[in-house]
Amino acid sequence: MSPKAAPAKKIVATTSLAGCFGCHMSLLDIDERLFDLIELVEFHKSPIDDIKTFTKECDIGLVEGGCCNDENVHVLTEFRKHCRVLVAVGECAIMGGLPAMRNTIPLKECLDEAYLGGATVADCNPQRVIPCDPDIPKILNRVYPCHEVVKMDYFLPGCPPSADLIWDALVALVSGKELALEYRTFKFD
Ligand code: SF4
Repeated sequence: MSPKAAPAKKIVATTSLAGCFGCHMSLLDIDERLFDLIELVEFHKSPIDDIKTFTKECDIGLVEGGCCNDENVHVLTEFRKHCRVLVAVGECAIMGGLPAMRNTIPLKECLDEAYLGGATVADCNPQRVIPCDPDIPKILNRVYPCHEVVKMDYFLPGCPPSADLIWDALVALVSGKELALEYRTFKFD
């Protein structure tokens, strides 16, 4: 009798768009369960393993942060193309989060404050130059949550979502089971 082949690991990609990496830190906060996780999944394009380009299709894409520039839109679109299931992880991915606070202010005013007339401009940017190098991603008129750019399949609330929630969600996605979100998961006051 031939030995039973181990089930294929699910392939997971992760990225941080307009986020602070706090959601990735929360993923790492699953602590010793990381050893269990690497038995269940193989990480592909991700800051976790520093793989920078997709060379294979992925089962699950975890996206932190929304889109504040054209590079974010490009990366998110690539994730949609290469990941069967796409998860918005954290408030920045779900609704723009802190970066979206600028959405109430016209872009010109934001740039004026940051580069031309703000309190620190004289010290930090004495030439009063608004950066426009072609290598710098172009800022968007506002910050877009991920679901306004591509279809997202699941949303994990929190800033950041707790390590337990990320762990439960990953196990549910990998095993194909439903994830029952408890009320306390999305009640923040
Ligand atoms: Fe950081 Fe919170 Fe945004 Fe996650 S949701 S990227 S922790 S600000």
